[in-house]
Amino acid sequence: MQYRENPRNGDQLSALGYGCMRFTRKGGVIDQEKADRELALALEKGVNYFDTAYIYPGSEACLGEFLRDHDCRERVKIATKLPQYRIRKTEDFERFFREELDRLQTDYVDYYLMHMLNDRTSWERLCALGLREWVEEKKKSGAVRNIGFSFHGGQAPFRELLDAYDWDFCQIQYNYLDEHAQAGVEGLRYAHEKGMPVIIMEPLRGGRLTHALPVAARQVFEKAAPGRSLADWGFSWLLNQREVTVVLSGMNDPGQVEENCGIFSRVMPDSLTEAEMEAYRLAVEAIRDSGEIGCTGCGYCQPCPRHVDIPTCFAIYNHSRSDHYMTALKEYMMCTTLRNVRTNASQCVGCGKCEEHCPQHLKIREELRKVTKRLETPVYRIGALVLSRVMKY
Ligand code: SF4
Ligand code: SF4
Repeated sequence: MQYRENPRNGDQLSALGYGCMRFTRKGGVIDQEKADRELALALEKGVNYFDTAYIYPGSEACLGEFLRDHDCRERVKIATKLPQYRIRKTEDFERFFREELDRLQTDYVDYYLMHMLNDRTSWERLCALGLREWVEEKKKSGAVRNIGFSFHGGQAPFRELLDAYDWDFCQIQYNYLDEHAQAGVEGLRYAHEKGMPVIIMEPLRGGRLTHALPVAARQVFEKAAPGRSLADWGFSWLLNQREVTVVLSGMNDPGQVEENCGIFSRVMPDSLTEAEMEAYRLAVEAIRDSGEIGCTGCGYCQPCPRHVDIPTCFAIYNHSRSDHYMTALKEYMMCTTLRNVRTNASQCVGCGKCEEHCPQHLKIREELRKVTKRLETPVYRIGALVLSRVMKY
């Protein structure tokens, strides 16, 4: 495993961080046994940074159980997040934090983040509630070792936030498709200049740069290096940049853990060739030409009061553009009707609640109209009617 140093405190962090957001679920709950096997494999291969959050259902507790059973708390760094948007009064800081410590079965957090802190107004709201004083006290007692924030806003607010406080680290969405989106390369470099470690999330954009990559972009990569995996392409672009400290990957398969550990041991800063950089440029062009919806499948927009399964609608819409249309239509029919309530795009009544939570700032209502137009054809409507009779709702 390759380690990168936290310039603030000398921590040697594994360049591959374990994103604990996508563990496999069984009957609605995390399959602890399977997650344990995957986490143990990553630990054995040298991963020492584990990222979770209050709002990832069951994730903190799953990680806590794993760390206790493997007696390895001191060997790893836990990163978790305060749902800052749910803080209403000063006591809430402590209440959420205590709950997180209980779930994680620990008495300290190595890297603590304000979750989705996207602008200065939100920061000032937290300050007015006493966040600075609370953090100071936690750092003094050792219960919080490093304080940071995760970010999904634009470049200007990112700089403002970095300058507003003496942060120990930050976490941004970054990948070859988002080089100039959100904080972007400019934000990454600015944080680095300030001597801050930068943690990367959405390195493969929730699968959009791997299994959901449009065919034309796949062909670009395949031509440049036959047989090289799309995950390898995605991660290599990040590892090539020395400003990147840790890249999070939401692993839920032992093969994935093995492959990622191999990539993160091999690819060093400034190692990509001109020809490889050209392949990224051409692939980005091909992705942009495909007209797909830029959803990462994070699920923050859920639940919808009208039960619209937004990430599924968008994923299938994207399949319909990059794969066989009829296969996607069948998938859409199965996924949106074989349930006790319908979850298809046209159930949307346009309340806009979902858009307030989307880190990608997607115009969800507008995109859902595109899904409806493309997939809710007469064939879909007849099929849905038949299936609804079968389901008797
Ligand atoms: S705008 Fe539509 S999809 Fe979004 S929450 Fe409202 S009803 Fe659901
Ligand atoms: S629409 Fe936005 S919030 Fe919802 S799953 Fe996609 S990226 Fe996440």
